[in-house]
Amino acid sequence: MLVNKNENAIPDYYYRHILDITPDKIKNMGAEAVAVDLDNTAVHFGSFRLEDGMREWTENMLSSGIKVYIVTNALLGRAFILSRQMCSVGFTAISLKPSTRGIETASRRLGVPVSKIAMIGDKLSSDVLAANRAGAIAVKVEPLNKSSGKAAKYAAAAAAAAATVVTAVIK
Ligand SMILES: [Mg+2]
Repeated sequence: MLVNKNENAIPDYYYRHILDITPDKIKNMGAEAVAVDLDNTAVHFGSFRLEDGMREWTENMLSSGIKVYIVTNALLGRAFILSRQMCSVGFTAISLKPSTRGIETASRRLGVPVSKIAMIGDKLSSDVLAANRAGAIAVKVEPLNKSSGKAAKYAAAAAAAAATVVTAVIK
């Protein structure tokens, strides 16, 4: 079966954490700009405070000549607040990834061809697919909140149950 390579969600590069991605690595990908996802990539899901190190990461990219843009499905207000914490780089909020709109807007605003933009994000079904559809470079990172949500609730419940058992045994 033929697979349309623009309609797959296979990343070109994979890193555990966005902070592991250096300007040299971006340059070695042949990219001149990065489009950064926010939730679970640069910030914990729904948070208004950037992940520690993200401001320095952004400054390092910019001072190395790599342009930085935010492409997020988050709403306008939070995207604005977070962009202010990332050296006030440009952003597209409510980008509706896997729509290519955000990456194309980044290309237009930065003056960088889409093929030279590395889209960095945690989700295959939105970030990576959007990058592949647009013809950008798809860079996958692990979601920051991997242990959050239901899994964390179950873990907390299990820990609480274990603590109860231990307490009962001690008594
Ligand atoms: Mg995300």
